[in-house]
Amino acid sequence: MNRRLRHCLLAALAPVLVAGCGPAAGASSPGPDSPVAGAGTTTSAAASTSAPAATTSKAPAAVPVPVVVLDPGHNGGNATARSQINRLVPAGGITKPCNTVGAATDAGYPEHAFTWDVTTRVADLLRRRGITVVLTRTDDTGVGPCVDQRAAAANAARATLAVSIHADGAAATVRGFHVIEPALAPDGGNAAILGPSATAAADLLTAFSAATAEPRATYPGPLVHAGLTRRNDLAGLNLARVPALFIECGNMRNAQDAALLADPVWRARAAQGVADGVLAYVGRA
Ligand code: ZN
Repeated sequence: MNRRLRHCLLAALAPVLVAGCGPAAGASSPGPDSPVAGAGTTTSAAASTSAPAATTSKAPAAVPVPVVVLDPGHNGGNATARSQINRLVPAGGITKPCNTVGAATDAGYPEHAFTWDVTTRVADLLRRRGITVVLTRTDDTGVGPCVDQRAAAANAARATLAVSIHADGAAATVRGFHVIEPALAPDGGNAAILGPSATAAADLLTAFSAATAEPRATYPGPLVHAGLTRRNDLAGLNLARVPALFIECGNMRNAQDAALLADPVWRARAAQGVADGVLAYVGRA
């Protein structure tokens, strides 16, 4: 698994190789310009009296395989590499720390483990549906990568959609999940992705609610509406040149949410919700 994931990560940095990460079904489809075996070979003599255009109708062009970049927030080695992850990196007109340690439940279940578990589940679900999936990290024991590099991986893969998966560390009294869509970055660089990202956010919100019954958070400050916020201070959204979202699946500091986040059965539901939202957006629902 790790070797495969490492290959996919490398592929994100070399777009021409990305198709190799997908399942055989999609990757083996002929390209739009490939001749289609069998097309028109049974044309009868009678049919040949019709206009050639009518008797040699082309097979539908091959539908490109969607590429989805999944970004499991944080990493298991970050806590012991503070100087490495605290250095500032460009974030779209602002700077941000390379990476952060992330949240944890009061019982000590860390966010990096949660995001890794859910993300790998989502990847499995999407690959089974013929989606090419690229992950921004290859295991849960390393350091980083920095947030600007995670965004660069999505851009290099020319992703149909990039989803960063997180769980929150908010006040213990509040709970629920929320999706974060991009606002215009301080440097204006993500203007072209705001519309499609908002569409994807609506799909993800609906699908995650349906799969998990998790309430939509109302605590994040700049809410668009319950369960949806819009920010321009996240490198992953500011630097994105492909549609991009974050999801905070629940609040690790809230006892009720923490019990769910630590439960593998619930995490499977969460993964299904994310996958369903992605599939709706890429037209594979
Ligand atoms: Zn996080």
